[in-house]
This record gives sequence, C-alpha cells and structure tokens, in this order.
Amino acid sequence: MNNSLNRPKFFTWLIKPVSSRCNLNCDYCFYLDAARLRSATFPHMMNEDTTDHLIEMAIDSATDTISFVFQGGEPLLAGLPFYHAFIEKAQKANQKNINIVYSLQTNGLMLNEEWVNFFKDNNWLLGISVDGEEKANKWRSPNNFSKDTSLIIKNIELLRNNNVPFDLLAVVHKKNFKMIVQSYDFLKTLGAKSLQFIPCLDFIKKDNELALDSNSWRESLLNLYRRWRDDWKKGIYISIRQFDDYIAVINSSPLSSCAARGICGGYLMVESDGGVFTCDFYGTDDFLIGNIADGFFELFNNSKLIKFINESFILNEKCLHCQYRFLCRGGCKKYRNGDQHFIYCDATKTLLDYAYSGLREIALSIRYIGD
Ligand code: SF4
Ligand code: SF4
Repeated sequence: MNNSLNRPKFFTWLIKPVSSRCNLNCDYCFYLDAARLRSATFPHMMNEDTTDHLIEMAIDSATDTISFVFQGGEPLLAGLPFYHAFIEKAQKANQKNINIVYSLQTNGLMLNEEWVNFFKDNNWLLGISVDGEEKANKWRSPNNFSKDTSLIIKNIELLRNNNVPFDLLAVVHKKNFKMIVQSYDFLKTLGAKSLQFIPCLDFIKKDNELALDSNSWRESLLNLYRRWRDDWKKGIYISIRQFDDYIAVINSSPLSSCAARGICGGYLMVESDGGVFTCDFYGTDDFLIGNIADGFFELFNNSKLIKFINESFILNEKCLHCQYRFLCRGGCKKYRNGDQHFIYCDATKTLLDYAYSGLREIALSIRYIGD
C-alpha cells in the first residue's frame, strides 16, 4: 500500500472552472448531486489567483507530463478568454518544459466556430456528452430535448469537419438502456476517436430513478458487446473504452483510467475556489483535502488522500478468488458497495464468461498488427 505519493510521471488535474454551474442540469448528474450536499457554495468562476496557484502547483509537482482536464457543470460557461489566459499563463510558467496536454468535457451546446478554432489551434481533445439519438438523449433536457439534441449533433459535426479530435460519452440509465445498440450504431457514425458508455449512478443520499441496476447493465453490456464484435468481424474496429481496456490488459498495454486500474489516485479534482478533492466522484466535504494554494507536500501527503487511495486496494473476498480479477480489478471505487464489492460484479462476470475468448482473439489480432 502507498504511504505517500511520489511525484508522478503523468498526472491529471481535473478542473471545475465554473463549479457545478451548467446550462443543462441533467436530472441524473452526479456532480450536481454532490454540489448540493456541500456546506460551501463555490464561486461561479475560478479567479486569476486560483488559476495561478493551480498552474504553479501542477508544474512544480510535475516530472514529465501534466494533463489539464476541464469539466463542469458546463466548462464552456467560463468563456473563451478564461482558456486563452490559462494556456498563456501555463506556457509562461512552464520553465521546466513539462509536456502539457489539454482536454475538456462538454455537453456541446455552446460550441461554435470560435471555440472550435481555439481547440484546433491549441491541440485540445474534446469529450462530448451525448447519450445517443433524440430518443435516448431526451432525459437530459426534458423540455427542450429535440432542439438540444440536434444542436449537439450539429456541433459535433463542426468538430469533425475541423479535425478536432473528440470522444463521445453516453450515460446508460434505466430509461435508455434498451436502446444501447441503436445508440452505439448512431454514435459510431459521428466520427469520434472513442466511445464511452457509463452506467448511471445512484445519488448519495436519495434515490436516483434513472440509476442502472446490475441486471440492466448486464443486458446492456452483452448487447453492446455482440454488436461491437460483429463490427470487428466485418473489419471495423470501434473504440469503446471499457472493451479497449480489457484488450489493453490482455496485451499488457497502458490502461486509460484509474477505474480500469482499480486503483484511485491518478488525479486530483480542483474546484473553482481552489478546493482540492480526491476525485470527481467524491466532491463532498468529507473528501476535500485542502486548497491548491497549500504546498505540494501538504496536498500530496494529506492523510485523507492516502486513506482514500489505500482503500481502493481493499477488495471483497470474492474478488480475491475471481478468475477475472486481472481484467475487472474490482471496479471503480465509486461503484463499490459497503463490502468493497463492485455493484456490477454479476454483469461483469456474465460479460466476461461470454466474451473473454472473443476479446482474446481481438487482442491477439491487434497485437499482431502492432508487431
Ligand atoms: S473512485 Fe473511481 S474515478 Fe475516482 S479515483 Fe477511484 S477509481 Fe478513479
Ligand atoms: S468480476 Fe466480480 S468478483 Fe470478479 S473481480 Fe470483478 S467484481 Fe470482483
């Protein structure tokens, strides 16, 4: 187990420049749920001092690569001048010549040519949240879903036409999980680098009527996998984050996230006032570990953070004896119950019973091509 954090080679700072402020306020948003439970209200906009401290801390603690990831709420609400100033400051402060990569997760509604030119000129990777076609996406903005979905799709086309790389992220929930294959078929036509399907979480203190149970996730995964593998058999490889990670494990390639590694601690989340939290999924008072203006040592050796990371190593007894532990790793901590057991264990096991030999075949073919 880790007793302290060394300076990592690659570190991600997940930044909330406008806190949880959003122009959609989706009913299922886990971040809005966490924000409502916090004792403090965070500023609607990160100020210059906080931005300076953040950049200084990130560069000071870096040894090789920093990834700045902007999220919300809706991070485009911070406005283009905020991002111009951010990259200018980072460039000036980067005396160590650290590799800096930028990405931003947005609902895509505010994208326009000006934004797209900025992302293109500065080599940003975008993530767009879209759950599928109108009928799968409509729970995000019930009053305006038709207009909003068309606008998001139009703006995705703008990115594609300007060669700005982007991923698509779809939330799979109680009301749209039966449409996962149609959503996949639709999303894959939009030209994303990769697709991500995320099961909708329950809220912290109250029920989320859209939260996805294990049986529904099992059905979704099996259907998705079958269609995805059919595409592969036709010579079309569509990148789906979860399946890519299984293949990466089989091929001993790097994994895309802490969730795939089953170990927390690959990043820190910074709120608009500089408050630092252990993870985006844990944006409540209990997981506030300090402020970006605190020193590197204070932040990275914080006892709450060390406890948080160490807890992710503790797996349920069932995982310790599971044949799929090397692939599943007990799941992301946020999706584990009080017994440290992955709430989608049954879904994952059923998928891997069904898909493991097929995944191996795909992994070997990729390895062969790579060789
Ligand atoms: S809870 Fe999940 S997302 Fe958060 S740091 Fe841990 S593995 Fe990563
Ligand atoms: S499939 Fe279930 S038992 Fe196996 S490692 Fe994953 S969560 Fe644990």
